[in-house]
Amino acid sequence: MLLHPLRSLRTVTATTLTPTQQRALDELMAKGQDRPEFPVDLAPRLRDRLEEGLADVADRLGDGELVVTKRDLAQVHQCERLFMAGLGTFEWSPMAARGSVVHKALEISMGIGAVELPPGHLVDLAIDRLAEAERGVAEFLAHADPVEQAELRIAATDMVSKFVDEFPPLKTRWRPRVESSLSAHLCEGRVLLRGKVDLALGQPVGTTARVLIVDFKTGRPVSAHTDDLRFYALLETLRVGVPPFRVASWYLDSGQSHPEDVTEELLLAAARRVVDGVRTLVELRVEKRSATWRPCSSCGFCPDRGQCDGALAWEELRAQRGLDV
Ligand code: SF4
Repeated sequence: MLLHPLRSLRTVTATTLTPTQQRALDELMAKGQDRPEFPVDLAPRLRDRLEEGLADVADRLGDGELVVTKRDLAQVHQCERLFMAGLGTFEWSPMAARGSVVHKALEISMGIGAVELPPGHLVDLAIDRLAEAERGVAEFLAHADPVEQAELRIAATDMVSKFVDEFPPLKTRWRPRVESSLSAHLCEGRVLLRGKVDLALGQPVGTTARVLIVDFKTGRPVSAHTDDLRFYALLETLRVGVPPFRVASWYLDSGQSHPEDVTEELLLAAARRVVDGVRTLVELRVEKRSATWRPCSSCGFCPDRGQCDGALAWEELRAQRGLDV
């Protein structure tokens, strides 16, 4: 994801925007349009639904805390065996580090304020800053060879440049939050839902929804992106008591977006998906139930593809359907 350099503090007029930036302003932010009101008891009702649905599995967790991320939910709903195969296998790489660098570049761009810096310069500043951190991406940066460093700079600069081209400069009065963490403790802290949104804009007023949440993506749209954003909408609702009025995926390679207006039904569906996913996670991780497998678009990069019949089944399915994924 990426935000905008110092242009965030400049006056924006219609003539300064690219047509895609203007489209983002008109279609995503829906300037001047009425915002929805939500019942004041919506968040407590959602929390009750979640905790009722998880009460028995929370008891089975004992004193342990189960941390659940959007990635966990996406994988366990897609293919249980994929989820189990991916546990503990994360490794830093230029592509894995790209998101951290881009987010930091955006934070810097919003913080510097006075001078407009080119995307490549922002990326360099971001990498320098992240290298000083104590863990996470800093370790990768410390050991990356020159080729990996170059790949990281190129990939991050590409994303920052596209963001600047496509998204309107962020105004401080929009209250932009970059890589903003959201969490919800459920069942007396035994289940922790956690997420991090690329960009949140706006502020609720009373029970009027006035927040827009955007996730920036590369590649093509997939249904999991919609589920991720609904999960964020649920966490934001539990946090502040009012949902975002809209969530959207923004595809940087095409300059297209997939927005979805948030409704109570959408949040209830998101809560049901969380309950189903967490129950499955507990069965797999705590109770050691055997994982099922399901051929899917993740088969191509699944750590278990060499030993799983699902990978072959997916290849056959692709061939039948003429898919190129
Ligand atoms: S290869 Fe496909 S079906 Fe098999 S575990 Fe991986 S994602 Fe699931």
